[in-house]
Parts: sequence; structure tokens; C-alpha cells
Amino acid sequence: MELPSKLLEKAVSEISQLPGIGKRTALRLALHLLKQPEDQTQMLSNALTSLRENVKYCKSCYNISDNEICEICSNPNRDESIICVVEDVRDVMAIESTGIFNGLYHVLGGKINPIEGIGPSQLNISTLVDKINLGEVREIIFALSSTMEGDTTNFYIYKQIKDSKIKTSTIARGIAVGDELEYADEVTLGRSLINRIPYENGLKI
Ligand SMILES: [Zn+2]
Repeated sequence: MELPSKLLEKAVSEISQLPGIGKRTALRLALHLLKQPEDQTQMLSNALTSLRENVKYCKSCYNISDNEICEICSNPNRDESIICVVEDVRDVMAIESTGIFNGLYHVLGGKINPIEGIGPSQLNISTLVDKINLGEVREIIFALSSTMEGDTTNFYIYKQIKDSKIKTSTIARGIAVGDELEYADEVTLGRSLINRIPYENGLKI
């Protein structure tokens, strides 16, 4: 599609880089922004710039945070002896919205995926193992999505920590196989945490 302005073309091209946004939607959004009061667009642009420049990742659990240590890790009422291992920050938000988990999290930042070239060293796995080796963690809950990559990642971590004799469990599979955690409804997700099962039960050894 021929656009009447290079500036518009540039904006459309940038907006269409976002996931799920094609050129048509990008054009609609760009034209919408043009119709808005100028300060509205300025606020959007400032929010995005500030997000990119200032957002931090918690030094302990890798959740998104405004401070060095996130609000969950620094909350004295949370149980530090239980860690829920998740793939990304959206999973923390999903589990937090169930309101039933009072431990801490560890965000891996992805799953082991050899096809996409993602190995254990690119994920926050060694810091999790270090945390467990300190001896203050009582239980690890694997809450990765039930995909081959999720299972591979669980097993990789399990192998690293099984000698530490801490309790390892996985969320119960009320979450359908192949489902991503963030799409599960809160009740199902909450129940799958309560009914978590010992990790070893799922191993075919
Ligand atoms: Zn944290």
C-alpha cells in the first residue's frame, strides 16, 4: 500500500514490528494516534521510553521490578523456603492473580529449546541451583507449560538438584498438555498449584 507520507510509513513500519500487528492494524493505530491530542501521544511515547530505560529485573528472582529486589522477594510475609519455577514474568502475574501462592518465584526467562538454539546457559538456571545449594529452600514447584521443552527444562533442573534432597513437585495437570500457563483461568491454575504432585511421580524411570 502506497502511503502519502514517509513519516507515516516509518511509524507504520515500527508499529507493525509488534507481535500480532499487521501492516493494516499498524496503519489504523498510527492514524488513530494522529487524531489524538498531541500530549496523549507524547505520554505513550514517554511511557515506552521510560519502560525500556528504567525497568529492572529482580536480582534474586528475575521478575520485572522497579527496584533491585522485587516486591515479592522483599515482602517479609512471603515464605522463602518455597520457590515456584516459571518460564517468564507473565507466569508470575498469572499465579499471583490466583492469590493462593505465598512463596517466592524464579523466572527462567524461557525454556530449553535446542531447535531454537536455547540452551541451559542462556536461562537463569545456575542461579536457581546456587539458591538451592544454600540450603534454605524446602520445596521447588515446577510450573512450566506442559510441552516437550517445558518437560526437558524441568528434567534438566531436576538432575542438577536431586542430590539436595529438597521436595520437588510439579503443578497438577489441570493445565492441559501443551497449554501455556498464562491462558489458564485463575481457578484452574490455583487448583493445579494446590494439587501439585511430587515431580518423581511423573518420571518414567
Ligand atoms: Zn524477586
